[in-house]
Amino acid sequence: MIHEIIPVGMLQCNCSIFGDEQTREAIVIDPGDEIGRIEEILARHKLKVRAIIITHAHIDHIGGAAKLKAATGAPVWMNASDEELYRHLDMQAAWLGTSTPERTPVDVAARDGDALRLGETDFHILHTPGHTQGSVSVWIPMENKLVAGDTLFRDSIGRTDLPGGDGRQILRSIHDKLMPLPEDAVVVPGHGPETTIGREKELNPFLQF
Ligand SMILES: [Zn+2]
Repeated sequence: MIHEIIPVGMLQCNCSIFGDEQTREAIVIDPGDEIGRIEEILARHKLKVRAIIITHAHIDHIGGAAKLKAATGAPVWMNASDEELYRHLDMQAAWLGTSTPERTPVDVAARDGDALRLGETDFHILHTPGHTQGSVSVWIPMENKLVAGDTLFRDSIGRTDLPGGDGRQILRSIHDKLMPLPEDAVVVPGHGPETTIGREKELNPFLQF
């Protein structure tokens, strides 16, 4: 499995590009910005995008979705509980002092338990609300990898002081959905360096219950 991670945009959101070597199909998670760079990587590996998954509707994660969809024709997956946030993309842009990116309708309402297949590899949607109501994480058992969006970071967790945030709920999501994953599972957070489930269980100051 090809997996490229590139931090994109002003807030350096980690965009993940997964590609299957056999089928040359790809899944792109969180194309927040810099769609040109993402397209370069897709072209370099000769990949065709099959799905665009949005972990949550914050502008730094979803800002480039419309552009990437227009370029590739791939459907956009996002949890329906973040539709409200996505409608207010202009407000998010104003907070950051940037211009409002183009919006696109969400094609698939990603729900807890949904799965997408890339070649032989399944990508499972875990609904992990708390940072936002529609936050999801993507668990790829065959790769032993979790793309956590802004739910879990190395040594931290997502902020819950923005609209739709809930401090108790994010801890419950992490405890119920993420901590049961294998200790050696690699976590790719929405920002910053990779970690593992085991490392965060042991050292993350927010998870010492
Ligand atoms: Zn966020």
